[in-house]
Parts: sequence; structure tokens; C-alpha cells
Amino acid sequence: MAEFDTGELSGRADLALTRDLCDHCLGRLFAHRGTGMTNKERGERLRASVNALRDLEGRLPAEHQICWLCDDLFRSLPRFAEAAAEAMGSIGYDTFLIGTRVEVDIADREERLWGEIGSEDVETIKAELNREIGKLVYSLTDKDVEFDHPDVVAVVDTRFAAVELDVSPVFIYGRYLKRSREIPQTRWPCTRCRGRGCERCHGTGKMYSTSVQEMIGDPARAMLDGVDHAFHGMGREDIDARMLGIGRPFVLEVSKPRTRDIDLAALEEAIRAGSNDDVGVLDLRMSDRSEVRRIKSVSPNKSYRAQVRVDGKLNKELVIGVVRSFKNARITQRTPSRVAHRRADKDRVREIVKAFVEDIGEDVMTLTLETEAGTYVKEFVSGDEGRTRPSLSEKLGVPCRVEALDVIAIHDQEV
Ligand SMILES: [Zn+2]
Ligand SMILES: [Zn+2]
Repeated sequence: MAEFDTGELSGRADLALTRDLCDHCLGRLFAHRGTGMTNKERGERLRASVNALRDLEGRLPAEHQICWLCDDLFRSLPRFAEAAAEAMGSIGYDTFLIGTRVEVDIADREERLWGEIGSEDVETIKAELNREIGKLVYSLTDKDVEFDHPDVVAVVDTRFAAVELDVSPVFIYGRYLKRSREIPQTRWPCTRCRGRGCERCHGTGKMYSTSVQEMIGDPARAMLDGVDHAFHGMGREDIDARMLGIGRPFVLEVSKPRTRDIDLAALEEAIRAGSNDDVGVLDLRMSDRSEVRRIKSVSPNKSYRAQVRVDGKLNKELVIGVVRSFKNARITQRTPSRVAHRRADKDRVREIVKAFVEDIGEDVMTLTLETEAGTYVKEFVSGDEGRTRPSLSEKLGVPCRVEALDVIAIHDQEV
């Protein structure tokens, strides 16, 4: 503690002590001087030094009755800590952080004092309260303080020792499979009633009775005793397209969980059973918010199986040659008419990376395509009345359309 020179600071401390300050509030004025001690210890030493000086000069010592600044708020530290520990005891968590609310008047008086004494070495009363309550809660609960990503922040309102919990969401990563052509990826509120329930949605508030999000999120929310869920997918497929292969990466976010313990194998089974196998999940593991950003930032290639209906008879050799000619071809797609109401109308150039004929009949064929992210496959096949060029229809010289589409691979592990 050698670097804490009370002599150098005693003039300013003497001035501060023209008001009645507790040791915390006195020491906090010099919080950035001297390490390895609390503000209370700083205050005690400064008070002793000031009083020694006053004694020499025949002045009265600075006595402490009730702190002008904080009303001796720090005497209630144990009560605040107990209230925080008790509130957090109602949920499951491993790490925490303490926050505080203090009366506006206290913050005002603190700033007034800084104006008189100087603010270069100060710390705010909130910072000290957070730290000192945190230390006590740590000793009460044996849970760890975590500054960046705590499981829960307990905000203590110091006026009433009331505690509000800000519980961090739980994030779960996985890959989903969708074997139905009738469910969207995410919950889709009714566009007429915006979720309130109306005639159009038969009172459900939703355009579709369920979604991949609900099939995964509802059982997870129940197991975590949370409030709601959000679904972050690595892109999405059309409602009528299945998602097969090893699935599409997603992160599920469950808000305000009362427990953070979840049996992921049991969740996987609950999803399978709850969706009648329409939705499945693979590779479930715990995750965090940074993975949401990662998932949203990548745009991998996708592989599709497309069943294509042709308006006319197919010449096998011609078809195989045309399809093969699309390998590594660049096509220009103007925003499809079916999505033009929600996407900007513009031209996009996309690559058809691979194209194979898997099976061919009289007027129907099955293609396997790997395409660059953002390719509209249905429009590549149909041509979308000339908005996509070149297209399969254009090159074959007969109208073609996708009857059934499956995503069979998301190539995220290759990027
Ligand atoms: Zn005080
Ligand atoms: Zn409705």
C-alpha cells in the first residue's frame, strides 16, 4: 500500500470532510489511488491522516454521524446481498453479476462533491455498490461473478432492497430436418390480425398452425421453464421444400429460463415425437449469442433435388446435354414475381455449381443441383417468364416447372 500517500491527498480529503462523509464515500473520491484496498480502508486512513493534521492545528476532528452523500447506504450491504442471493435462488444459474439502482439525489450529491474536490480519481457509488454487493453474494452463494456474459444480472434497487433479475437467454445450436412440405421455418403470425386471432386464422393468430421453430422451441422452452423462443436459421427453405440430408444449422434462443440445465437427448426425442417425425434435429449442443452472428454471416452453397415437370416429351440426350451445360454457369435472376412484394426488385448473378440428371421419364425428371447461396431454383427451372436467364426451360425450349423440391445439403462445413 506504499503508493497510497495520505499526506499528498490529505488537503483534498480535509476539504471533502467539511461535510459528513462515511469512509466509503470519502475513500471513493480517491478510488484510483492505491491498489489492494477497499474504498472503506482508503477512507479510514484518510480520515486518520486528516484528523492528525486537525489535531496539530487545534481544529476539531471530522466525526461521522450520518453520511451526507449516501445516508449510510453501505450499512445495508448485507441486506442487499441477501436479497440478491434469495432472488437468484429461484432460478438455476452458474454465473452472476450485480447491478444497482440508486436514488437520483445521491448521484446528484456525488457529482456536486466531485465538482468541489476534483473528479480525476473518483469511482461512482454504483460501481462500488455493485462490487461490494457482488463480493458478499459470492460468499453467500459460491457462484462466480462474470462480467461479460453472466447467466443472470441481479439489479438491486437500493431504495427498497428490491431485486429484479435479468436472466440471459439459453442458446442451443443444432441442425434441423424438415420432412413436411406444409410447415414454415419460423412462427408466422397472421398478417390480418397480427397474432391476436381472427376469422382468417381461425383464432390461432397464425398463418400456419405450426413451424420448425415451434416444433423445436416449444419443448425446449418447457424444459428450460423459459418464457419465449427465437429461431435463428442459416437461411431458410421455401415452405413447400423439405430440408433433408444432415439438416440446416440453427440456433434456438430461449428467453428468461428458470433453469439452464437441459437434457439435449431428451429434447431431441421430444421434438421427434412432438412433430410426428416432421421435424428432426441433429448435433444439438449448448451455444451462445456469438454463434447467432456466425450463423447469420455465412452463405454457403446448397444442394437440391428437384422433381421437374416438362410440358412436352423429353429427349433424353438433349436433356442430359443441356443440364450438364449448366455446370459452373452463371445465371442472372431478376427478383422473382412471387417474392417481389418483400424484396427489392433487382438483378442478381448466381452460379449453378453442379447440375446432374438423376432420373428421367416421359415428361418428368429428377435433377440434382448445387447452387450458390441465394439462387432461386424454381425460377432457374421455369425461367419465371424471362426474369431468370438463361433457364432450363429456355435451353430445352419447352416450359418446365419444379413440382417438388428438397434441400439435400447445406455446404456450411466447406466454407
Ligand atoms: Zn457515504
Ligand atoms: Zn388472424
